[in-house]
Amino acid sequence: MPASSHHLSPSVIAVALPTPLRRLFDYRPGQDIPTQGWQPGMRVRVPFGTRQMVGIVIEGRDTSEIPAQQLKSVSAWLDDRPLPEDWLWLGRFTARYYQHALGDTLHQTLPVLLRQGKPLEARTRERWHATAQGLEIDLASLDRAPRQAALLALLRQHPRGLVMPALTAQDFTRAQLSALAKKNLVRHEIETLETRSESTRGGLLAEPALPLQRQQSQALAALHESLDAFQPYLLQGVTGSGKTEVYLQLIEAIVAKGRQALVLIPEIGLTPQTLARFRKRFRVPVVALHSGLSDHERLDGWLAAMSGRAPIVIGTRSAIFTPLAKPGVIIVDEEHDGSFKQQDGLRYHARDLAVVRARRHGIPLLLGSATPSLESLAKVESGDYRRLRLDQRASRHPPAKLELVELRGRSQQGGLVSPVIEALRQTLAAGHQALVFINRRGFAPTLACHQCGWMAECPSCDARMTWHRQPPRLICHHCDRQQRLPDICPTCASADLRPLGTGTERTEETLAALFPAVPVHRIDRDSTRRKHAFEQTLEEVRRGEPCLLVGTQMLAKGHHLPHVTLVAVVNADAGLYASDFRALEHSAQLLIQVAGRAGRAAHPGRVLVQTLHSDDPHLKLLAEQGYDILAEQLLQERRAAALPPFRFLALARFESAKAEAATTLAESVAQELRQWLEQRDLAVDCLGPVPAPMERRQNRYHVQLLLGSARRSQLHEASAWLIQWLENHRDGRRVRWSLDIDPQTLS
Ligand code: ADP
Ligand code: ZN
Ligand code: ZN
Repeated sequence: MPASSHHLSPSVIAVALPTPLRRLFDYRPGQDIPTQGWQPGMRVRVPFGTRQMVGIVIEGRDTSEIPAQQLKSVSAWLDDRPLPEDWLWLGRFTARYYQHALGDTLHQTLPVLLRQGKPLEARTRERWHATAQGLEIDLASLDRAPRQAALLALLRQHPRGLVMPALTAQDFTRAQLSALAKKNLVRHEIETLETRSESTRGGLLAEPALPLQRQQSQALAALHESLDAFQPYLLQGVTGSGKTEVYLQLIEAIVAKGRQALVLIPEIGLTPQTLARFRKRFRVPVVALHSGLSDHERLDGWLAAMSGRAPIVIGTRSAIFTPLAKPGVIIVDEEHDGSFKQQDGLRYHARDLAVVRARRHGIPLLLGSATPSLESLAKVESGDYRRLRLDQRASRHPPAKLELVELRGRSQQGGLVSPVIEALRQTLAAGHQALVFINRRGFAPTLACHQCGWMAECPSCDARMTWHRQPPRLICHHCDRQQRLPDICPTCASADLRPLGTGTERTEETLAALFPAVPVHRIDRDSTRRKHAFEQTLEEVRRGEPCLLVGTQMLAKGHHLPHVTLVAVVNADAGLYASDFRALEHSAQLLIQVAGRAGRAAHPGRVLVQTLHSDDPHLKLLAEQGYDILAEQLLQERRAAALPPFRFLALARFESAKAEAATTLAESVAQELRQWLEQRDLAVDCLGPVPAPMERRQNRYHVQLLLGSARRSQLHEASAWLIQWLENHRDGRRVRWSLDIDPQTLS
């Protein structure tokens, strides 16, 4: 063992603990330091206030500022080897970059069982086989032990062996197994849970790879040019162009070199197909990390990735923190997707961390999308990322152009105008399926009185309440408050209460009335609450009978619906005219993704987009020239307006039960920050405080302060100053505040 200072016992160790405080805590190492010595990244249990907490050792110190007699000792050392170095490195980077407390960052990025101090060991189980002798022996020779004979007979039928739970389920006991093992008739091996002992004989692949189309091979060849070095690629391929096939063949090459692939996808629950395709292709274990796992399953997956037993790891946002023994590539599918940004607590962006992590490991990074984020497109422009394009679909038909349908001056039925209803009719008559996209669940966005104009408003938020039919009630989509539907108007007592606008339930109802002969499937968060409901509906739709689908953006993401030939967008305007600076980018991405559901197989598709502003220049540009051209235009606008990706932002949010408290605090910190910036001569500006776009939410008042700079380092200096001021200020403890580095929205 090398004699490093780590093996000497320091007088003080600094520990990161799961508290919001941005500091480490000093302890004496105590008596039971692991015999091999201590190292950063080991977990310890320590007294904290009246409780015990699990923390991570960060460093050793010669002295502490805390008087020796007050310094407490570690209660227990939980590990004899440190948690993985790549995990600790990324955690420290994340805490620094997003200005979040290190202890909380590390805590958030660990599987729950490790946070609780459970051992860093994979769960194992025994798999029992008949030995060669056991296969040959005459079972009659065991006739004095009939259960043993039955057990051996059973194992003889299973050449791959049976695991202990399968045997106990049939009432066989450990004593019977031991008796047979003594006679050398059976034996067992220990296997770790997540990597079932699947045979990898016959190679890596369980099914042959598809022969690539020309652009796919070019993309793969370009990726092969840099398998051993950091290089970000943007795989920009139209919907259905076979990006996934490129991922699969890249992963094949990486795994063949004995390395691991980490694949981030937006939401596993919404795209079970992606995971299924990976599992079908590869014979090696594919570990999936997502919110549907039990704590044990999550730890198993984490350990399989950490040990290298799992060559392929697929997960949502938080999987970026999964340790890898032999990292080979990171892939971020649908890289533009908003779900990669965590919007509360530790506000990180998994795509951005993927870049950082790939650079650190010196491995390629592949970002894939039909509608890349402006951030990634700007990196292509600056030469930092290499762009690979797939312009053709694997099927014959190119993605359909958007056809704009003006809403003004036309009467509507359930939100649909007659040219759209007619197109739906034709689609069904041709034996195809149609998808109606409406980004609003519930029956109607609100309930209004036709006599006096009253509208149902949430008592706790600056927002209307949504009218839901199934079950009937008013629900605030911002705070989840629910209310009974009123029979009469609370202001004028009129009974003439009507829906205002259209939600999925109302469109579903209209379509069912218009087309009684075909099934109408509604897909939104309400209709899919039951487990597997979503998959079941999709399965039925894939059978291909004519039907109508009505749904929110749950339907837009990545689904392959081969029989859908018409997509109708009920209203394109909500997103286009939202105040947020990314609203246009996001709604264009969503429109193209939804449109991409049409005509993915044998028949060409059509996409009708209803709008009140068919002459809107951005919408026209998107419809006539496509996403690329619109994105170029939006990038120019962002540059002109000094907005991301050409400027770096940090958003401080303040909230309190009384409006003045948040405002006063934000005002005082803003004033002092401005002075400090001037003294330090930093090129950072500080806008606000201003009320948040929805000022009152859940009876709390929200105020915000926006910092911006062309220099990332200066923005960070200013952010750090702000946080420190707020932590040290008395009112900073009374008002809830947070800082969002690289905010995705300014709301
Ligand atoms: P994307 O991820 O770009 O939306 P997919 O990878 O889902 O596209 O591919 C769309 C369809 O095309 C899938 O059904 C896929 O099996 C098929 N496909 C992809 N590549 C090929 C290929 N080289 N040859 C034949 N079919 C392909
Ligand atoms: Zn009224
Ligand atoms: Zn509310």
